[in-house]
Amino acid sequence: MDKAQIVICGAGIAGIATAYYLSKVGVREILLVDEASPLSLTSSNSTEAYRNWWPDFDNAMVALSNRSIDLMDDFAIKTANIFRMNRRGYLYFTSQTDKIPSFCSSAETVSKLGGGPVRIRDEKSAASKYIPFFEDNFDNDINQSGADLFLDAELIHNYFPYISKDVKAALHVRRAGWLSAQQLGMFLLNEARKQGVVFKSQRLVGVELSKGQVSGVYLEENGKIGFLRTSLFVNAAGPLIGSIARLLDVNLPIYTELHQKLICNDPLSVMPRNAPLLVWNDPQYLLFSSSERSAIEAEPELRWLLEEFPSGLHTRPEGSGSSTAIVVLWAHHAPIIDPIWPLPEDPYHSEILMRGLAKMIPGAKQYIGNFPRPKLDGGYYTKTFENRPLIGKLPIEGAYIIGALSGFGIMTACAAGELLAAIIVGSDLPDYASAFEINRYSNLEYLKLIKNYVSDGQL
Ligand SMILES: Cc1cc2nc3c(=O)[nH]c(=O)nc-3n(C[C@H](O)[C@H](O)[C@H](O)COP(=O)(O)OP(=O)(O)OC[C@H]3O[C@@H](n4cnc5c(N)ncnc54)[C@H](O)[C@@H]3O)c2cc1C
Repeated sequence: MDKAQIVICGAGIAGIATAYYLSKVGVREILLVDEASPLSLTSSNSTEAYRNWWPDFDNAMVALSNRSIDLMDDFAIKTANIFRMNRRGYLYFTSQTDKIPSFCSSAETVSKLGGGPVRIRDEKSAASKYIPFFEDNFDNDINQSGADLFLDAELIHNYFPYISKDVKAALHVRRAGWLSAQQLGMFLLNEARKQGVVFKSQRLVGVELSKGQVSGVYLEENGKIGFLRTSLFVNAAGPLIGSIARLLDVNLPIYTELHQKLICNDPLSVMPRNAPLLVWNDPQYLLFSSSERSAIEAEPELRWLLEEFPSGLHTRPEGSGSSTAIVVLWAHHAPIIDPIWPLPEDPYHSEILMRGLAKMIPGAKQYIGNFPRPKLDGGYYTKTFENRPLIGKLPIEGAYIIGALSGFGIMTACAAGELLAAIIVGSDLPDYASAFEINRYSNLEYLKLIKNYVSDGQL
């Protein structure tokens, strides 16, 4: 191959979805390159969860995720759910009575943005109308949009007896669940290959411009660098989009944040295998015995362990059949660093996660100091300041980007890839397209809007 119509750098979920949708709209000679195996860097190390529930300053993120879930639903139906998408939902809890009004108003906000109706469940009689759906599959026939808002502690404990008795309110977001990102990605890649997309294990080392327009790329394989002519280039390099953009003298407004997840066994079944994704929505102090506390107080460099930790710890069962695995995540001190591999080790992370988990699921106290085979993996959230992706043209003719997919890249990949393909071929665009263009940062009104914005809802 000495030329291609388009070269996509990065075969994570974003690059693969872009290749798939470009091939679907009839683009040919698509070359997808990755220096590693497809999906191996970030996309296979995520929590693999999805939701349409995005508290935000407008409806763009809700619309993007709703569209992506529509597309994933279609694929799931077409493939007999080869990527094992379930619709168990996200279940948020608060134990703070004074937080209930903001818990409710945040739910109303997302509902108005397009998340679907909020159904209040505050009396026992209302329980009959709540339809929990805790299967491994997904079902379009039952009411799975919007969210169920529980304001009756007794009702919450009837449904979720394994959760802390301190819980006062719960929100069950229904158009949500998890899937196999690897299977979804491989399905899209195989379909793209059937349409002629070529994948090569190559490292992109340069982009050639002539008269300010992309004219080719330099690709390295087995130590040899070759030149390939192309006039279209997509930067889908995940946490490395910044360094790839610098090859074009473009600085991206992004940063990378380390996120690691704990995978361990739950031999005592403290969390049922059919649980939804559970989120502790309160800040908390870690559980320590009085002797542990005294020991920590005596070590100045460890005293931070006694300070307040942020909200957002979440967990879910992992695997089916006889699996007893669970995954636990909590970005309690997610450091902002340039990406490096292997990931930096944090000797306290697993212990912190398990102690935090015990606040939400008291049965997990039995595992403190006694881990059932823990393993940590993860990667980087690549983020913009207001935590929205970059999908569209770069300021170089022929160059495009799909990235900054933060902690939502699996759930939005299909809609993001579809959007970028539409931008590249010049077809009609959805309303949310302009929300993700990089040139939004040259709009002063937009900059004012996001100046004091604290991104909400990202786990
Ligand atoms: C711990 C964790 C939990 C997460 N949980 C969720 C979740 O529950 N739901 C969700 O939707 N999202 C989640 N995410 C986010 C999601 O995983 C990412 O947004 C998504 O995987 C990003 O996909 P990508 O294709 O942009 O990047 P990647 O998957 O990183 O792919 C980029 C690819 O580019 C390649 N590349 C880079 N430079 C070059 C080069 N010079 N030449 C050739 N190839 C190159 C890399 O090898 C890599 O394969 C999570 C992320 C983490 C870290």
